Amino acid sequence: MRQIILGRTKLSVGASSFGALPIQRLSKEEASYLLRLAYEKGMNYFDTAYSYTDSEEKIGLALSDVRDKIVISTKSGASDRETLVKHAEESLRRLKTDYIDILQLHNPKTVPLEGDELYEGLLDLKKRGIIRFIGYTNHSSQRAEQAVRSGLYDTIQYPFSYLSSDREIKLYELARNSDVGFIAMKALSGGLISNATGAKAFFNTLPFAVPIWGIQRERELMEFICLEEDPPRYDDDMKTLIEREKKELSGSFCRACGYCMPCPVGIDITLSARMKLLLSRMPYEQFMNEHTMERMLRVNDCKNCRKCVERCPYGLDTPSHLKENLAYYLDFAEKYKSNEKN
Ligand code: SF4
Ligand code: SF4
Repeated sequence: MRQIILGRTKLSVGASSFGALPIQRLSKEEASYLLRLAYEKGMNYFDTAYSYTDSEEKIGLALSDVRDKIVISTKSGASDRETLVKHAEESLRRLKTDYIDILQLHNPKTVPLEGDELYEGLLDLKKRGIIRFIGYTNHSSQRAEQAVRSGLYDTIQYPFSYLSSDREIKLYELARNSDVGFIAMKALSGGLISNATGAKAFFNTLPFAVPIWGIQRERELMEFICLEEDPPRYDDDMKTLIEREKKELSGSFCRACGYCMPCPVGIDITLSARMKLLLSRMPYEQFMNEHTMERMLRVNDCKNCRKCVERCPYGLDTPSHLKENLAYYLDFAEKYKSNEKN
């Protein structure tokens, strides 16, 4: 598989890498089979997170015997040093390893800098040999830019696909020029893009970006493997197709950046405008409870003041997305309840 050097880390990773969020939905045996197949087909970089329930454990089970041949990144959503260290130590245990290649801060609301307890905690973990490199993930392009400019982070991970805006393409260029590894999450825009060939052709024009494809099925894995073996060309026909899809779809993808918040009636827009996506990518049981139902039902309080629309840099018609996602959630919850009864 074509390799990409991940910025200043100098880690050599496959141009198609494995995003291990969706394997939460698989049994341990199914996940082991898929992860092992990915490895045997040439994937050598696996990205997970402390919060992805048993994803780390599944990677440990499937790949610990080839640990020295793969790169693992994980994430911690800790907001204090003590929790960060606890997460990292637990990740080691789950992954059955004694080091993590890249530990990333998981979508924090700020960019921790020198002197901040979280950043100092990361440095300490590095000193102890628990982690090799420090990464930063975020859904906000502003914060991702700040992380790159700080010079303190070895990699950034950001939602990036052919639906990305010019500002986001500039973020990629900034990372490239700063020698910060650029990891693309949601490279299929969380399932909105169904054209994997187009997605791969787009990434082939950005030789520094490493897409981590969220993979749940063997046929999805094999599609990416085949696209590596026979790389699609970004020719005029492909460009036209992508431009057309971009026009049709870019107004539908909520990046969860939170720029539109707060909502005056307290709607949790980053959750509610993405519920359909979350139900299809995460273990859905975690959203089938009264607390989430109550948060979703707040969408009914929308006054249509359009403040969120004015603030959204991606031009989303947020109130419509909220209604659509609420209807989908209610229907899903109804079916879930009646399945439970039977
Ligand atoms: S339009 Fe609705 S969701 Fe958006 S800010 Fe106003 S009340 Fe909140
Ligand atoms: S609606 Fe727009 S501003 Fe709000 S979280 Fe989604 S992408 Fe960000």
